[in-house]
Amino acid sequence: MSRPIQATISLDALRHNLARARAAAGRARVWAVVKANAYGHGIERVFPALRGADGFALLDLAEAETLRALGWGGPILLLEGCFGLDDLATCERLNLWHVVHDPMQIHWLASRRKARAHRVFLKLNSGMNRLGFTPGQYRAAWQRLREIPAVGAISHMTHFATADGAQGIDSALEVFGSEADGLPGERSLCNSAALLRYGHGSLPARADADAVLGDWVRPGIMLYGASPTGTVPDAGHWQLRPAMSLVTRIIGVQSVAAGDAVGYGAGFRAERAMRVGVAALGYADGYPRHAPTGTPIVVDGVRTRIVGRVSMDMVTVDLDPVRAAGRAAEVGSPVLCWGRHQQDELGIDEVAEACGTLGYELMCALARRVPVQVL
Ligand SMILES: *Cc1c(COP(=O)(O)O)cnc(C)c1O
Repeated sequence: MSRPIQATISLDALRHNLARARAAAGRARVWAVVKANAYGHGIERVFPALRGADGFALLDLAEAETLRALGWGGPILLLEGCFGLDDLATCERLNLWHVVHDPMQIHWLASRRKARAHRVFLKLNSGMNRLGFTPGQYRAAWQRLREIPAVGAISHMTHFATADGAQGIDSALEVFGSEADGLPGERSLCNSAALLRYGHGSLPARADADAVLGDWVRPGIMLYGASPTGTVPDAGHWQLRPAMSLVTRIIGVQSVAAGDAVGYGAGFRAERAMRVGVAALGYADGYPRHAPTGTPIVVDGVRTRIVGRVSMDMVTVDLDPVRAAGRAAEVGSPVLCWGRHQQDELGIDEVAEACGTLGYELMCALARRVPVQVL
């Protein structure tokens, strides 16, 4: 028997979440954001469910190549654009649309010969100060692009820094409006947080919802069924379903006495006699090493907690609540790390919150050694 850890990817959940994105998007088209190998899920694995999107957005050219090899003939957008002059030839060969966020990328485009070969999304820095032209540079960049023979249609895009928080999108939206208003071209603004909080079906409805949604929305995390805000109840509130589940089994059981230590660095000390289970799950599987004692985990259908330090291949869990619920909690008992397994559910957001991170980071970290089954 192989090591009992197993991830599953639910195509039904992905389809359901894509339908949720579509409903919120109204008339806007939907880029399925599949960067970072589809947030750790695997582009090849999610493709059959997400091919119902209008396009795919990512940033790694090899991943774009993968999508073309899978037979995707529709739009693909490179969210960070070209990293070097050579990439423009790849964009022409694979028909990739690309973001232009820096003067160097315009300089490269000016050197290409092929007429109107490049469909670009000009990116405005609306306050995040990561990528994009500042308001003072934006219109001049647009004008320069328009004069380049190799450039075809130019769309307008920005990325919200605070769509998931109390600050919201108003100030970024105002900057975007003042730069892009009056210019021809499609618009793309929303990530998952903006789409869910301000799109169709959100309350209170915004009078400017159509302007916020624009022509293309760019949901990522919501497609995978986790919360963009990191607030635990949100995935349920927005009726998202977990696309990834991670299950393993108990491979050892220890009875420890009051005062005994568990794991590296004696990171946990039992306050009373208790039983500790060892699950086949560690940071080499992508489980966060910094998951503290108390991080939720489900053993044999009963919610319990991690105790002590996460090691490379193992994690120790408190079996007492499982025993108290009348379950066996022995070698071979199933352990749900996050997602869904039979009747059990444990939100990846809940695990992430206990670890001081987001579901994004946990799903992206799923390690190659974990076998993945697509359901
Ligand atoms: C990653 C990314 C998205 C998707 O963000 P989510 O929060 O996962 O929905 C959208 N737009 C850009 C530019 C991105 O880099």
